[in-house]
Amino acid sequence: MTGEESSRRPRKIVHVDMDAFYASVEQRDNPELRGLPVAVGSPAARGVVAAASYEARRFGVHSAMPSVTAQRKCPDLIFVKPRFDVYKAVSLQIRAIFAEYTPMIEPLSLDEAYLDVTENLKGMEIATEIAAEIRARIKATTGLTASAGISYNKFLAKMASDQNKPDGQFVITPKNGPAFVERLPIKKFHGVGPATAEKMHRLGIETGADLKERTLDFLVEHFGKSGPYFYGIARGIDNRLVKPDRVRKSVGAEDTFSQDIHSFEPAREGLQPLIEKVWGYCEANEIGAKTVTLKVKYADFSQITRSKTVPAPLPTITDLEEVVDLLLAPIFPPRKGIRLLGVTLSSLEERRASRTAPQLRLAL
Ligand SMILES: [Mg+2]
Repeated sequence: MTGEESSRRPRKIVHVDMDAFYASVEQRDNPELRGLPVAVGSPAARGVVAAASYEARRFGVHSAMPSVTAQRKCPDLIFVKPRFDVYKAVSLQIRAIFAEYTPMIEPLSLDEAYLDVTENLKGMEIATEIAAEIRARIKATTGLTASAGISYNKFLAKMASDQNKPDGQFVITPKNGPAFVERLPIKKFHGVGPATAEKMHRLGIETGADLKERTLDFLVEHFGKSGPYFYGIARGIDNRLVKPDRVRKSVGAEDTFSQDIHSFEPAREGLQPLIEKVWGYCEANEIGAKTVTLKVKYADFSQITRSKTVPAPLPTITDLEEVVDLLLAPIFPPRKGIRLLGVTLSSLEERRASRTAPQLRLAL
């Protein structure tokens, strides 16, 4: 450790992660699905699994797996259509619970967040007690279970939340951190994707202990700007701060069709759930959007985008639908079959602010 790091006050970080989130929400709301292998997603030819219940995971089904593969692994797998509006509503409930403990919340997705509880609003000393309380509150409020990792930095908190899943928690203390990392298989490291894991494997790095043996120069030579991060985490060091209120720059959704599309009607139909998804997210988060971008990927994988920016945030979903229609119509007839369509909203702003602005002007 350098002098600067050792003098820095130790942090108390909690990583909260909902268990099989989308699938658990579906099992909660549809009792007939409980105890059964469930995949949230489309069973269509090009569909992918968005989330798998623990019953499905026992068959080797996991998220991001092509639906066709999932069905082969688990012939009794039940596919359920995602309901993102519901997942978002639950996510906001969880976020509200976090906010009672700390304003230092950094969501990673709808079902995962880092909390810095070093200084918390409850004046609680022990981070493991905070984690236990938050998990109990989540269970009582949503009927769903969450797991938590507690540690002195983000990397270790994230690794810890995986240790006692589902419905469990795990703490990694400064004393245990370095030994924990040494034992950890490299492919489990957060920030090491499949491609990097494969490269590490080729370099003879299989565990945290192997990673720790490599010099900083070696890691920079092979992994560029990720080198210093890998060098640090191999020693249980991660100085990244929990960044609250990360303002999103855009909200997008896209879908690949099971068959290429050639005419306007099916394209517009395919876009509707995407429109509803991005609009639902903005509504749940009180975000207004001024720019709409339509993405079109053709059968040959070439891709175009078409954007329109309006002067004030779109007031209703109908207005969004009209802009999408305007962007979509001119691309027909398409030069090739359309394989994928996407909608992204950007130029985002907090809707509360834009609502109160005129009143402020009047008051002045
Ligand atoms: Mg999760």
